[in-house]
Amino acid sequence: MAKPSVYLLNLGCARNLVDSEIILGSLKEKGFRIANQPKSVDLAIINTCAFIKEAKEESIEEILDLIELKKSGEIRKLLVVGCLSQRYREELEKGLPEVDGFLGVGAWKKELNALIEQLVNTDSHGLKPKMHTDKNLYPPRFPRFRLTPPHYSYIKLSEGCDNLCSYCAISQIRGKLHSRPVEEIVKEVKDLSRSGLLKEINLVAQDTTSYGKDIYGKPFLRELLKELEKINSLPWIRVLYMHPAHIDRELIEFIARSERVCHYIDIPLQHISDKILKKMNRKITQKEIYRLIELIRKKIKDVSLRTTFIVGFPGENERDFQELIAFIKEFRFEHLGAFIYSREEKTPAYNFPIQVPEEIKFERYNYLLEVQREISLEILKNYIGKEMEVIIDEKVSDDRDRFLGRTEYDAPEVDGGVIIQDKRLKPGDLIQAKVIDTWEYDLLAERAEI
Ligand code: SF4
Repeated sequence: MAKPSVYLLNLGCARNLVDSEIILGSLKEKGFRIANQPKSVDLAIINTCAFIKEAKEESIEEILDLIELKKSGEIRKLLVVGCLSQRYREELEKGLPEVDGFLGVGAWKKELNALIEQLVNTDSHGLKPKMHTDKNLYPPRFPRFRLTPPHYSYIKLSEGCDNLCSYCAISQIRGKLHSRPVEEIVKEVKDLSRSGLLKEINLVAQDTTSYGKDIYGKPFLRELLKELEKINSLPWIRVLYMHPAHIDRELIEFIARSERVCHYIDIPLQHISDKILKKMNRKITQKEIYRLIELIRKKIKDVSLRTTFIVGFPGENERDFQELIAFIKEFRFEHLGAFIYSREEKTPAYNFPIQVPEEIKFERYNYLLEVQREISLEILKNYIGKEMEVIIDEKVSDDRDRFLGRTEYDAPEVDGGVIIQDKRLKPGDLIQAKVIDTWEYDLLAERAEI
C-alpha cells in the first residue's frame, strides 16, 4: 500500500516554522511521504498566523485556495492548525465547513496522531478535536523535518508571554510564558548538529530575554548561551526577539566577549515617544532606550542592531511620529522593520480613544521605511573594502555562479544579504569574502584570496 502523503504550508513567524517542522517530523515517522506541492495528496495542513490583520487575511486566503484544491480533487483531507485556529475556531468551523479539522497551538502533540489516523483511514468529516495546551512545550523526543536549509535552524526557547503589551494578542493565543529546560534545548541542538551541516542556530521565543523566568525564577538566557557555546561544531548562535526592558549589562558584555554569539542584537522597540511607550505598556522609557542603545554600541563595537516599530498606534499624533523619525535618523539601525498598528479585539488598545485613520497609518509607514532605506544605504557603504565571514544560503536562481549569503550581522529571511559570484561555492559554505559594492539592503562581495 502506497504511503499516505502530506503537504504542509507554513505561515507566520519562525516560531510557527518550528512547530511545522515538528508536525512533519512526527508524520514522517508515522510513515507519511512529505510532498512539497499540494498535488494529489492525502492530507494538506496549513499552519496559520493570526497576530495582526494582514496575517489573518493571508491565512484565510491560503485556506480558501486549499479548499479549491480539495474541491478539484488534488487534496483529500484539509487540516487547519496554529494561531488562527486557536483564536477563531468556532467562527472558522461555521464559515469553512469544507475543512476536515481544526487544531490549535500545541494541540497537535496529542491530537495530531489520532486525527491523522481517522482522517486517512475513514471518510470522517468535521472532527472536533479538543483544544488544549500541554505542560511540556515539546515531547521529550521529537523528530524535526527541516524546512530551513541544513546549515541553519530556529530553536524555540519558550512559548507564550507575560509582558501583556496593550496591542498584542499573542498571550491570548499562546498563553503565559513557559520555558523549556536548558538540557532539553542543548540536547535538541546537539541532535541537529549531528548532521555536521549545522552552522547557525537562531534562538526564538516571544521574548527571549524572559527565557527561564518561569522555571528558574530568573532570566536564564546567559546561562543557556554558556551551555550552547560548548557545542564546538556551531560557529554562529543568534538571539532574536529580545525585549528592550529585559536586556541587562551582563548579557550585553557576555555577547561582546563571545566568539560564537553573533554580534547581532534584535530588539523590537515599537516606539520612542514616552506617551506611546506607556500606552503600549512596554515597561521602558525613552531615556532608558537611549541609554540602552548607547551601552550596546559602546560594549559591542561591531554590533548590528535590528528593531521594529509600530506606526499609527491609538493616540499617536504628528509630533509623536516626528519624534520617532528623529530618533531613527539619530540612532541609525542596521536593520529596521515596521508594522501598521492592527486593532486586535480583546487587547486593551482595542478600546483606546483616538484610533488613527488608515490613510494616515499608511503614510507614516511608507515615510518611515523611506527614511530607513536611505540610512541603510549609507550604513552599508561603510562595509566596502572590508573582509567578512559569509555563510552561503542559496544559489540565486537565474545565475548558476551567483549565490546569496549573509554575514553574522544579518538574520535569515528578514535582513538583506551578500551577493557573491563564484562557481566554487555551495549552500552551507562559510567563507571569507571582501565587500566590493552595495545596494540599499544588500552587499556585493567576492571571495577573499587566502
Ligand atoms: S513582548 Fe509584547 S508584543 Fe511581544 S509577544 Fe509579548 S506581549 Fe506580545
